[in-house]
Amino acid sequence: MPVGFEHCDFLGRHGAALHREADRAAVAQPPGVPRVGRDEVSLRRYVQCGQLRDPIAKQCAHVGRADLAVRDRRRRVVRHHDMTEVVYEPGHLKFDVVRRTVREDVRALETVFENVDRVTVGTEGIEHAVAAAKNLHQLLDRSRRHDVHNGHGTRRSRYGENVITAPPLTLHKIADRVWVWLQPGGESGVSNAGVVGDDDGLTVIDTLMVRSQWAPFAAAVKELGETVKRVVLTHAHIDHVGGTTAFRNAMILGSPMTSDLLDQAMPVDAYKAFMPAFTEGFDELAVLGTRPVSHIVDEAAQLTERIELLPARGHTDGDVMVLVDDADVLFAGDLCFFGVTPLAFQGDPAAWAAVLDVVGELADTIVPGHGPIGGAAEVTALRDYLAACVSGTIPPGPWDSWLERAERDPINIEKAAMLRAGDDGMPPSMLRALGL
Ligand SMILES: [Zn+2]
Repeated sequence: MPVGFEHCDFLGRHGAALHREADRAAVAQPPGVPRVGRDEVSLRRYVQCGQLRDPIAKQCAHVGRADLAVRDRRRRVVRHHDMTEVVYEPGHLKFDVVRRTVREDVRALETVFENVDRVTVGTEGIEHAVAAAKNLHQLLDRSRRHDVHNGHGTRRSRYGENVITAPPLTLHKIADRVWVWLQPGGESGVSNAGVVGDDDGLTVIDTLMVRSQWAPFAAAVKELGETVKRVVLTHAHIDHVGGTTAFRNAMILGSPMTSDLLDQAMPVDAYKAFMPAFTEGFDELAVLGTRPVSHIVDEAAQLTERIELLPARGHTDGDVMVLVDDADVLFAGDLCFFGVTPLAFQGDPAAWAAVLDVVGELADTIVPGHGPIGGAAEVTALRDYLAACVSGTIPPGPWDSWLERAERDPINIEKAAMLRAGDDGMPPSMLRALGL
């Protein structure tokens, strides 16, 4: 039968959509492949309407062969002289082309989205690396200036040599108007804090976690009889920020990450699961809350005449160290754990190890976030441990006596491996430790 009314109806109802799809199909065809698309659809219309004006259409419109294609309702390759034409029965054409082009379009879009994701991940990686390099550069600069200032080069010390013995749970003076408040042990939830005096008043460094910890610390600070002007948060972990409300009138300084995290709801259940010994304290803290960061620290800054703030990343993406250059004291926050295994579930062990290359050069006396005071040798041991975590195997070393090895080794190794694979997520071993 000739191409008839059935075909005409088909074009009448679906002609515009069909042309659109056929156009896309024609574009999608690589050169040299028999064409499917507008020409053929046009040919059908010309045949149907009896308007064989187009010379190519005329050439292709060998009625007998076209009819055959229609009758068979199949895809046919029709040869005309030296030209190959693919001919479809219209209903079939519509179905096949639409289905194929939609599939192709979806696949093409998926590819675009995958590429966008890859570019985004890559860009974030580059931004991270640039930020880390900038931080390291600032720290290196600071370390070199410090060495010139103090007239010495790279320090050498043995493990334990520089450790200042300070009694725990008391405001202990380690230099002129520089105090530490150490908590014994240094395991999860048991952190250190410090105080530095300037002419205008005091700067508190970290605030401990629950009331049973920060209330005696805040009372001892009050006994100094000076105004607390500033609180510097070394990072956002709850064992450093839980006591901010004890210093109601001070400005609160922290990294952008610390600021973001303190603006979010407190994950009290996770805290309880991870540190069940402090369950009651967390119940109260959930009601009391923490103060938000009032001043963001995103690059090295001279906070007061005595205090320099040095941002870094390693333990988290938003660490801040506090250097009191004239006293040769560095409050390293959780970039340093001494005598306690570090925990990198939110950090980057490789970047952390790189930062520690510099940290030991910044001051002779280093107050860690957890554990007793130390110096360059303790920093080196910590760096070597983290480098071992990155390598995936931890050999015997000074860390053999550290607390919480069994719990934290798998988390640190897993986190380093995940980052190597481009995954910045929470290690499953940490989620298990959180009871999630
Ligand atoms: Zn921490």
